Amino acid sequence: MRYTCPRISGKKRMPAEDPKSRSELTIESILEGKKMEAYVEHRTKEMHSCTMCGAIGYKRKPMKQIGNVWFCIDCMRHLKEVLDTLSQWEAEIQLEREMSKKIDETLGM
Ligand SMILES: [Zn+2]
Repeated sequence: MRYTCPRISGKKRMPAEDPKSRSELTIESILEGKKMEAYVEHRTKEMHSCTMCGAIGYKRKPMKQIGNVWFCIDCMRHLKEVLDTLSQWEAEIQLEREMSKKIDETLGM
């Protein structure tokens, strides 16, 4: 019985339609890994977390940068609502101030 190196015999038995050697496959898997790293890095650059709700924004969740901070579309909608009713809100605050001032005056403070 002759001893044959299993690696060599394995190579010989490798089918013709798959000519890639083990080292080639290793290089390919390293390249795949590098591609993944680049992809993740690329995605990370696109990703921002919302300042208000902490949601991670990416292409599926639109984000808007205001100054150095990011807001997701949901929070922007909330903000818009607040801004739309800001004058009403300010009027309420003003009214409350006047009320408490009047109460203070009435109480002689
Ligand atoms: Zn948000």
